[in-house]
Order: sequence, then C-alpha cells, then structure tokens
Amino acid sequence: MKTRRIITILLIASALFATSCGSNNEKQTPQKAKNVIVMIGDGMGPAQVYSLLLTSHEKTAFERFPYSGFSITKSASNEITDSAAGGTAIANGNKTTNKMVGMTPDSIAQPSMLEILAEQGKKTGVVVTCSVTHATPADFIAHNINRNNNEEIALEIANKEKLDVLFGGGKKYFTERKDSLDLLGKMWENGWNVYDSLEQIEDNNARTMVVACRKHMIKAPERGNFLPKATAKALEMLDNENGFFLMVEGSQIDFACHDNDSATMVEEMIDFNKAINVVLDFAEKDGNTLVVVTADHETGGLTIVDPEGKYTRTDFKWTTGSHSAVFVPVFSYGPGAEKFSGIMDNTDIIKKIMESVK
Ligand code: MG
Ligand code: ZN
Repeated sequence: MKTRRIITILLIASALFATSCGSNNEKQTPQKAKNVIVMIGDGMGPAQVYSLLLTSHEKTAFERFPYSGFSITKSASNEITDSAAGGTAIANGNKTTNKMVGMTPDSIAQPSMLEILAEQGKKTGVVVTCSVTHATPADFIAHNINRNNNEEIALEIANKEKLDVLFGGGKKYFTERKDSLDLLGKMWENGWNVYDSLEQIEDNNARTMVVACRKHMIKAPERGNFLPKATAKALEMLDNENGFFLMVEGSQIDFACHDNDSATMVEEMIDFNKAINVVLDFAEKDGNTLVVVTADHETGGLTIVDPEGKYTRTDFKWTTGSHSAVFVPVFSYGPGAEKFSGIMDNTDIIKKIMESVK
C-alpha cells in the first residue's frame, strides 16, 4: 500500500516536471548576437547590386543572405540624402540635415551604435577605403555640424576613449593641420599604435589605426585587396569573449557612381563583395554574429537597359551625377536577421540591431 502511494507521488511529480520542462522549452528566449557587423555600400542601390550579379561568374555574397528588405533613405532636410545624413540615420537612428555628422538637426550629438556598444564593453572598429574622417566613418565615431570639417573630426578621433581599430586613409588630417598639432604623436601617447599599412601591425591587442594614404585610397582594382584584407585583420583583432561591433564601408562605390564610371563601379562592387564574403565566412563559423549590409543612398540613378529597347542586350544607363531617392537594399544574416525584412526606415536599423544584440 505504502509502496503504491510512493509510486503514485513519483508519477505525479515526474508528470509535473515533464510539463514544466515542456513549457520552459516553449518560452526559450531567442538567441541574441554577441557580435554586430554593419556593412555600408556607399551609393549602392538595387542596380549596383544587380550589376554585380550580371557580371559575376560566381554566386555573389549578396545571394548568401537569408533575409533582405528595403530602406527608406530620405533625410530630415531633403528627399535625397547625402552620405552624412544617410549614415547618421543608420548609425544613431536620427534623421538629420544633409552634411551633418552624428547629430540631430538642432546640433545635439547623439551616440552611435558603435559608441553605445563600446560603453557596453564591446570592442569596436571601423574599416573604410576613404579618409577615416569622411562622412560615413565619421557618422559612427564623431559628431560635427559639417562633414567637411575633416581636421575637427580627426581631432575628435584622436581624443576618442573607446575605439579599438580604425583602418582607411586620411593621414593628412592628422599631420598637415592648420593648428600644427601632431595628432599621430598624440595618439601614440594615448595608447594607439599608428601605421601606414596593415602589414606593420604587430600587436593584435593594441588600439590600432592604419592610415594608408594622405586622403582617400586609390580606386579599385588598383587599390588591391585592401578592403577584404583590412576586414579580415579587423575581425582577427576585435574577436573576444565580450563581443565586438565593426562597421565596414565600400566607400568608393559612390565615387565611381558620381563619375558615371560603369567599369569602376563594377570593380568597387567586386571589392565590396569580397569583404562581405570575408564577413559571412566569419559569421557562419562563429554562429553568434549579426551581419547587416545596406547603403546610405543610391548614387548615379543607375539603371540597366537595352539601349534599342529590344530586350536583347544590357547596358548601364546613368541618369544623374548626384544621388537619387530610390530604395536601397538591406541584407541580413545571423541572430535577429529576420527583423530586417520588408520596408523599413533607415532609422529603424539601429533599433532592430539593439533588439538583437546581447
Ligand atoms: Mg561614404
Ligand atoms: Zn555621394
């Protein structure tokens, strides 16, 4: 009798245990990302991506993403954004006036996702092929009323307390200044290692800036594989148990598009595609990394047509030497990637990222 009662109690207990286990499984919190990588193709609209698909013999990096959407790029001041306002919206979630960097239209500095995640203890980095003081990188690491204030932006970078890796061009804004300050010397004093090339890096754990040329780097393909190599080096240096934030820019897609230079635009897309493959290879292996690839705006009003209207061949057709107001694509991979489908405002990107990161 006593034995039967004990068995009954055990059966009830195990049933309760099973039920509670079941409900726990259902409520399992979704996995969050440890690392975040944002990649911006400056001026990269749908036709620039399609140009790569048309000319590539291999599957492109863009086709590796499980989710994609569209971003609305207009700024606070204009239907057609510039890179400063477009990048600011992505970096800190605020629409601002064209030319403004990391600020709202009333000149209030707003923390970028890089700065917020740095405060949370993540390592941070920026990799570009333009001057490191140019609008897009500046949107993530500086705050200024005018993107053209390169020397002020360089000073802000030199004084920055939390930034671990910065690779690009723009040495002259640190060394050939109106105020004669030697900012590179100051950065060495502040614990940075500063070099002219990636190959000179010796200590992966030190804060490191590589300024590979006086202003912007040269165009692709003459530039070589700087962007994919710099991206791989940044990943190697930033990867740590607390996670990291990295912004990588295909900076010169925009330059080629302003020039309506189809051949260089494709070369810049090939270069950016290589950098995305480096990032996706890392993210696939890591399993804990959210990757978001987007653009600040489209440049050149590029379309792809048969000039004779016969559907028999394709040719690039440019409709402006400036920016346009079309949708730009958003591609995403990793924990939280499903949030980036459909139509979103460029200011929503930071919100979706912050919801996805741990
Ligand atoms: Mg840019
Ligand atoms: Zn532009």
